[in-house]
Amino acid sequence: MQINRGYKFLLRPTSVQMAAMEQHASICRLIYNLAVEQRRDHYRQFQRAMGRPISFATQCLELTKLRAEFEWLSAVSLTAQQQALRDVQSAYQNFFSGRSEYPSFRKKGINESFRFQGREVSFRRLNKSWGIVKLPKIGDVRFRWTRDIPGKLKNVTIILDPLGWHVSFSTEQDVEVLSNFRPALGVDRGIVEPIAYSDGTFADFPIARIKALDKRARKAAQVASRGKKGSNRRKVAKARVAANRAKLARVRTHFNHVETARLARMFGVICLEALKIRNMTASARGTIDAPGTNVAQKRGLNRSIMEIGWYQFEQFLTYKIVAAGGEIRHVNAAYTSTTCSCCGLNEKTNRKSQAVYECAGCGSAMSADTNAAINILRAGTRPAQDRRVAAKRKSTLEVEATAA
Ligand SMILES: [Zn+2]
Repeated sequence: MQINRGYKFLLRPTSVQMAAMEQHASICRLIYNLAVEQRRDHYRQFQRAMGRPISFATQCLELTKLRAEFEWLSAVSLTAQQQALRDVQSAYQNFFSGRSEYPSFRKKGINESFRFQGREVSFRRLNKSWGIVKLPKIGDVRFRWTRDIPGKLKNVTIILDPLGWHVSFSTEQDVEVLSNFRPALGVDRGIVEPIAYSDGTFADFPIARIKALDKRARKAAQVASRGKKGSNRRKVAKARVAANRAKLARVRTHFNHVETARLARMFGVICLEALKIRNMTASARGTIDAPGTNVAQKRGLNRSIMEIGWYQFEQFLTYKIVAAGGEIRHVNAAYTSTTCSCCGLNEKTNRKSQAVYECAGCGSAMSADTNAAINILRAGTRPAQDRRVAAKRKSTLEVEATAA
């Protein structure tokens, strides 16, 4: 099986290279915006009469003509400009097939990026922690080498985010689909323990680190909101907000990669609640019996950080376990947190608090999140036949009840 994967690294450009990258980003943004504008005007003025939309090929031809005319255009790599036109093409295709909104203009300073084709770019490792990538018209740029880059290089994107310029190598690689004799695992995503497993363990989620970064971003946001518009103080604070958020995202992404890779190696079937992430924020408020503590704080953290974290966790886990020949099973989340995983008794009052589950029937006590994870594992690994029989039995009982 062939899959595409991206490998992103921090660049360490010289000031000359940085200026060249800024120039590339701004010219590619200009070309993108011009191409969108041209397509829009073409549609309004001619397409209804001609019946033919403007094409990627036409726009590429025009680009070549413009490059011959203007020196500042030809100072920037042709393929990077063509890639911008290709982006316009796919933005329109996505729009016409209903997958996305009408293409909008790219704005300065937001998601600045440009892309080269893989065959134009080469890279090599310099030493333990540095690599070097040869980019057309920009030169040999050093980057932090943090892992190997396997596969065939398809394209290379240069991205500016609040933490600086990055390079992302997208490669195509063959993965061996393994036979799957690995055990099953239930996963519960909760508030007390972000991720609990049915084997009684918990994920080592970097909650303290994430909270600290979140706090720093919030503080900086406060300073920014107090500062005068256009003031330097406000500008600096805003940059600090963005940098802390970007750092937080990087910590979370790293955790999710490492943890899901570990799970995909160890387990063949992973059962997850099919939950609507929106519902999760309600549980910080707790129940009437067990009201949540620090509700406002948790709610803020849940919404901004946990939700994205869970979504990403599931995305990474899905592609990694499929590549390893395993599978994800989604389980109905109803009653998984109130049912006893030992005796099957379903009592709301068994859940003594957010953290503790104590069964009134059999007396077993454990972490409420572990209890839920075991129930999720059980629901996901119950043979399909059992589930059908259970459904059938229920319907016959209903028929009997109505007959009587
Ligand atoms: Zn019990």
